[in-house]
Amino acid sequence: MEAVSAKKAQNRQGMYKVVMEQFEHAADVMGLDPGVRKILGQTNNEIVVHFPVKLDDGTIEVFTGYRVQHNNALGPYKGGLRYHPTVDIDSARALAIWMTWKTSLAGLPYGGGKGGIEIDPKLYSLGELERITRRFTYALGDNIGPDLDIPAPDVNTNSQIMAWIADTFSSTKSPSTRFSNLHVVTGKPLGAGGLEGRDRATGYGVVTTLKAWAERRNETLKGKRYIVQGFGNVGYWTSYFMALEGAVLVGVQDAGGTLQNPDGIDPEALNTYVEANNRSVAGFKGGAVMEPADFFGIDCDIVVPAALGNQITARNAGTIKAKVVAEGANGPTDTEGEAILRGMGVEIIPDILCNSGGVIGSYIEWLQNKRAEYWKMDEVLKMISEKITTAFTSVVNTAVEFNTDWRTSAYIVALRRLEKAYKERGIFP
Ligand code: NAD
Repeated sequence: MEAVSAKKAQNRQGMYKVVMEQFEHAADVMGLDPGVRKILGQTNNEIVVHFPVKLDDGTIEVFTGYRVQHNNALGPYKGGLRYHPTVDIDSARALAIWMTWKTSLAGLPYGGGKGGIEIDPKLYSLGELERITRRFTYALGDNIGPDLDIPAPDVNTNSQIMAWIADTFSSTKSPSTRFSNLHVVTGKPLGAGGLEGRDRATGYGVVTTLKAWAERRNETLKGKRYIVQGFGNVGYWTSYFMALEGAVLVGVQDAGGTLQNPDGIDPEALNTYVEANNRSVAGFKGGAVMEPADFFGIDCDIVVPAALGNQITARNAGTIKAKVVAEGANGPTDTEGEAILRGMGVEIIPDILCNSGGVIGSYIEWLQNKRAEYWKMDEVLKMISEKITTAFTSVVNTAVEFNTDWRTSAYIVALRRLEKAYKERGIFP
């Protein structure tokens, strides 16, 4: 028992504390209505499921899954599912709360939810992962649904997993509703109702915000040196679009390795390598191996954390040489790390703005399924760009209005919309 608790304690990310500190600070700065503050300070529903699955060797394992639904004042709960050993109620809560702010800031008709399974998916076969996913979906039952709560991919979940969820959910309903349930999840493969461009939506959004950041300085991204932590969906697609802008990748880190090359790492060659090598950058010859703890201190202009939460902390924030941190990941900077960055004059494009291209892409996929339409890639990217740029401008203007930083102003934009919804609608009964 002791070993299990030690492992759990080590896995705990502490993101809930961070999101609540950010919320309380923004609520103070804007003078958020006290009643609305009470409502938003709590999650609406917290679902924990334990479910059995038969493994390939015939043994039975019981898994624990979570779905936290923070708030649905603006629309159905929306947010990813994560398969990772760090998934627990604390991280699901934190990530659900960030989703409420993110969807509100992006002007989408959604609330916030998040969840996942406490699991290291690398330890299971594809067949086992399919059974785990289908049984998890079954255990969640009608707690998710296309007009209630719509999951999407997150760390270690992909379009294949979304297709299994959609298929399981629809298969447990009346055949006549099969296609009206397609949008119970977004981030599906193209053949299963997915959206062209959903794969790259988050990375595209990250680079859109960086372009807007550079424009404000009368600069471009051409020749800018950047590092990326995490070379999965967000890290790779960010690097893909950064390459199109002429930026140079000088360092990369994932769960398996840390590499640097001041002359530049080719994102395409790296991605080909990662796909063939168990999704890890370890062993790639296009960069020199370095100490993981020194990663954020690499000499560069832009840092893109695109992995887990609480990565930039008091431990390493002071080593950062970049001018800007673009938060591709959710919650990558903790409160102490942020204070240090601010003291050094490093700008932060906050997660709820920076990585919102993903949920905007998900919204388009949901609309596409609802209306039985097919959108083209260029239309999708255009809509993401317009929505993110509008949100970026609101964040910058609100920061001036309140003489505050971009994270706090992003919260204020999001909280104002929620506050208005509650004030106009009132509280039942
Ligand atoms: P992914 O599973 O595709 O990739 C995760 C990457 O992080 C992998 O390269 C993995 O090796 C790396 N990683 C894991 N642990 C690490 C560690 N301790 N140190 C360094 N690297 C580590 O996941 P993703 O979808 O790219 O998500 C990455 C982040 O972006 C998450 O914080 C997620 O919540 C956020 N995000 C994702 C989306 C999306 O559309 N996928 C949208 C918005 C935000």
